[in-house]
Parts: sequence; C-alpha cells; structure tokens
Amino acid sequence: MSQEHMKIPQATAKRLPLYYRFLKNLSVSGKQRVSSAELAEAVKVDSATIRRDFSYFGALGKKGYGYNVNYLLTFFAKTLSQDETTPVALIGVGNLGTAFLHYNFTKNNNTMIQLAFDVDPGKIGTEIADVPIYHINDIKKELATREIDVAILTVPVGAAQPIADDLAAAGIKGILNFTPARLTLPPHIRVHHIDLAVELQSLVYFMKQYPVNEESK
Ligand code: ATP
Repeated sequence: MSQEHMKIPQATAKRLPLYYRFLKNLSVSGKQRVSSAELAEAVKVDSATIRRDFSYFGALGKKGYGYNVNYLLTFFAKTLSQDETTPVALIGVGNLGTAFLHYNFTKNNNTMIQLAFDVDPGKIGTEIADVPIYHINDIKKELATREIDVAILTVPVGAAQPIADDLAAAGIKGILNFTPARLTLPPHIRVHHIDLAVELQSLVYFMKQYPVNEESK
C-alpha cells in the first residue's frame, strides 16, 4: 500500500502515536508479537477498534498469533515520519514554555524544539536546554533561514493572535496552541488547541457528574 496515497481516518490517526509508543517499548523488551487484546489492555482502546485501525494499515492479525511487532513499528515509524526529526519553534519562554524546552520530546517521538522566541530582555540571547532564545521581532527573519513548519504557542492570551499572524506570514503550517485564545488563521494552517486549565476543570466536572463505577471500567 502506498504511504503517500493512503488516507486513514482522523480518529485512527490520532491513536497512532499511542500505538507507536507502546509497540516501541515491546520491541525494546524483545517481544516479537502482540495480540489485539494485549494492546487493548495497554493502551485502553477496545480490541475491535484496534483491529479496525490496524486493518487500514494492511496489518492483519493472525488468529492465535496476533500482530508482528516489527512490521507495525516500521509502518508507524514511516507514517509518523519517525525516520526524520521534525524541528519545532516555541513562542513564549514562560513557565510552561520553559518546561517544554527541558522536556525530551525525542524520547517518544521525533520532534525537537530548535529555537524559541520571547520579548523578555532577560531571556533573549540566552539558551535553555541548548535552545537559543530570540526576540519575537526577529521571528520572520529567523524562521526564513530554517525549514520549520511547526510552532508551539505558550504566550499570554493577548499576544496569541498577532503572533499567530506572524507565524502564518513566516510560513508555519501547524500550531500547537496552549493559550486560551481561539485563533483565526488561513484554512491551510492546522491548529491544535490544548487549554490545560480547561482540561483540568473538565476532568473535575466529569468526575463529579459522571463518576466511573468500578464495574463499567
Ligand atoms: P513567567 O513566570 O516567566 O512570566 P508565565 O508562563 O507565567 O511565565 P506568561 O505571562 O504566560 O508567563 O508569559 C509567557 C511567556 O511569554 C513569558 O516568558 C513572556 O515574556 C512571553 N511573552 C509575553 N508577551 C510576548 C510576546 N508578545 N511575544 C513573545 N513572548 C511574549
């Protein structure tokens, strides 16, 4: 099956990194095959969904054998572009941004923050975890000399839209937005939004309103 022309459903695509991480651990521990039931237990996705997901990749489990771990790993690595490192820019080196600079993304996936931007004169010109920090006004200039398509946004909410506009002008194609701002951008730019405060509040709400009883787990 051609990698280029294969379109998998978005819900399946979202689960790929999860599968990839688990299979990588299995492979490291020397395991060569895995059943959909084992996978289901480990990644908390039901086994029917796993079998359907895997059928999109042409990976058909054999009864009594399961799936070949290395076949799946090779497939996922290619699909998730693990054979190449994706460079990322980070905008806003505050508490959250600094944590991301220290976080080792390459441990589980091949993305790497290559440079960062801020307005704080105390941060500009310094490095955190070997990542250089530039002035936000130099964003277009610095991005023009590098092939970076992805940016992480960890600035205060009020700064988010103008910076997103600059990122769009600089040719960025994907933004992971950690600010509460709802960004307006050209349709060719993909924005994934993670509002940690909202996620936490939602968890607390659901815990209260929809308690999970042990049997239905
Ligand atoms: P800190 O404690 O370092 O201020 P924080 O996460 O609580 O961190 P925020 O006010 O959310 O602080 O700001 C996050 C980071 O974004 C800070 O480092 C700040 O200097 C930076 N920042 C603020 N405005 C801009 C801007 N327009 N462009 C780039 N970076 C900005």
